[in-house]
Amino acid sequence: MTARFAPHALAVPAIAALEPYQPGKPLDELERELGIGDAVKLASNENPLGPSPAGLAAARAALAECSRYPDGGGFHLKRALAKRHGVDPACVTLGNGSNDVLVLIAQAFLAPGREAVYSAHCFAVYPLAVQAAGGIGRAAPALPDDHPAMPLGHDLEALAAAVTPATRLVFIANPNNPTGTWLRPAALESFVAALPGHVVVVIDEAYFEYHQARHGAAAADAAGWLARYPHLVVTRTFSKVYGLAGLRIGYALSDPAIADLLNRIRQPFNVNSAALAAAEAALADQGFIARSLDVNRAGLERLAAALPGHGLRPYPTAGNFVLVDTGGPAEPLYQSLLRRGVIVRRVGNYGLPNHLRITVGTAAEIDRLLAALGALALG
Ligand SMILES: *Cc1c(COP(=O)(O)O)cnc(C)c1O
Repeated sequence: MTARFAPHALAVPAIAALEPYQPGKPLDELERELGIGDAVKLASNENPLGPSPAGLAAARAALAECSRYPDGGGFHLKRALAKRHGVDPACVTLGNGSNDVLVLIAQAFLAPGREAVYSAHCFAVYPLAVQAAGGIGRAAPALPDDHPAMPLGHDLEALAAAVTPATRLVFIANPNNPTGTWLRPAALESFVAALPGHVVVVIDEAYFEYHQARHGAAAADAAGWLARYPHLVVTRTFSKVYGLAGLRIGYALSDPAIADLLNRIRQPFNVNSAALAAAEAALADQGFIARSLDVNRAGLERLAAALPGHGLRPYPTAGNFVLVDTGGPAEPLYQSLLRRGVIVRRVGNYGLPNHLRITVGTAAEIDRLLAALGALALG
């Protein structure tokens, strides 16, 4: 070989042009950089109470069998999820995190020339999955920042208007990350019902438990709509309130015909045995969920009361995090908080350079955040 080897020139152009996902900064990394041992991470919407204890015990027990391949069909977990949602196990697709399922959906329905619609400020994985599958992403404008009810929320009319004959997918996060905004059940269901027959709609309910705890029956539970809409896919995850983000497990609920397509392309053993066992046990550990939701509610109330005093305008949220407007470029505040051992999330890559996303932590973690903000004000 004489010319210099240039893999980027050889790669599929859409892949070479991908901007990688920017995760929250790991705790361990900041602690190494600062030489401290007590940094606080409020950057990835993890459960601050840790994993479900029942889930952790089940994962430990499962590790004793890790010389065996996992159950690629996920029999026990699918049965438990089917029972929970009142659907047939054939409606369930398991994934290595719900991220995995989102990628499978994009792979199944997109190709060059085909389009996917999502909202401005939507979860970053949707555009990535669309582009990696060779599809074209269309971002519909969000509601304006001065909208009286749902600033920066999803605009269902704009999403519907972005659908063309080439559209195959619409992605909606309800509640959305990083904005925390949500859609009312009747409006969302009307949107689903009105989509043309060549479009599959994905409703990502990663924060459903928080939304329901906050809004009760006014929180859309789209899994309950599956029998009416064969073009609907609902995704859920064990990464948030169940506290299993590091094990990587999530799932989709859909008509069995869509689940069949997704199962054709998923890797045979995409979910590991510790995750399968932990998820099944965590699903039954409702005491832990209740405690987690209590901690979240108390933390959110505290943040909503305290943040404005630090010049940070909080948005309404139905999740375990809050988006704040910092009133100017957010980067200096992000860096100042890092230097004080507090990791929050930058959202410039979501088109929100004047904002930060703060995960609701334990009372002690919120103390640290508020103390850091107070110290910064003093200069
Ligand atoms: C965190 C999150 C997920 C979950 O990702 P996993 O891959 O299941 O960890 C999915 N969708 C949204 C909107 C999220 O914020």
